[in-house]
Amino acid sequence: MTDDHTREGTAQEKAEARALFGNDWQRIEAVIGRAPALLNSRDSGTRRYIRLVEIATEFSEIVAPYAACRGKGCSHCCKQAVNITEREALRIGNYLGRAPARVAQETDPLVLAANLDADVARYTGQACPMLATDGSCSVYPVRPLACVLSHSLEETPEPCNLETGRHWVKKLNTMTVTSVSVVMDITRPIGDIREFFP
Ligand code: SF4
Ligand code: SF4
Repeated sequence: MTDDHTREGTAQEKAEARALFGNDWQRIEAVIGRAPALLNSRDSGTRRYIRLVEIATEFSEIVAPYAACRGKGCSHCCKQAVNITEREALRIGNYLGRAPARVAQETDPLVLAANLDADVARYTGQACPMLATDGSCSVYPVRPLACVLSHSLEETPEPCNLETGRHWVKKLNTMTVTSVSVVMDITRPIGDIREFFP
């Protein structure tokens, strides 16, 4: 268990996660563990991405009963940076019937990582352009992997509230899945959802 998406959990955090999930912990590890093999698959990029979404959805179905997330309208987490790949932007654009904006591709992985870090500072507190006024996600069926995988393991949604809560929230580290998505599409633009849909 980690307090954000960006660092490995400590041994204590992992022990806490195992205790919380009980027998489901092994299922979670097994599901997440299927993601890296997609990097060696000969399937098309589209097919591999869909399989990654299936993995994320399966993960979500196991974790959701343990999470503080309250469904439609529980949306503090939609006011944070949301990194997406161009593939995800095109999928969302296809759903909306609207082409995403062109985002410059960054080929240097160190610069890309720095840009994504800068996005966290730039967009934290800003509502996602896909967030509807009732707090629901207007592109829920095609929401990015980062959103499918996001589940707070706090007691209530309140720690997610950037205005009154904390700036970190207990979540499982799902970087194995999101990293596979990024590596699969490393030759294409990656950016915040607000850059693709300004
Ligand atoms: S991560 Fe937080 S704000 Fe987002 S749905 Fe879950 S509890 Fe609600
Ligand atoms: S895409 Fe949907 S779920 Fe994801 S941050 Fe935006 S409104 Fe929230």
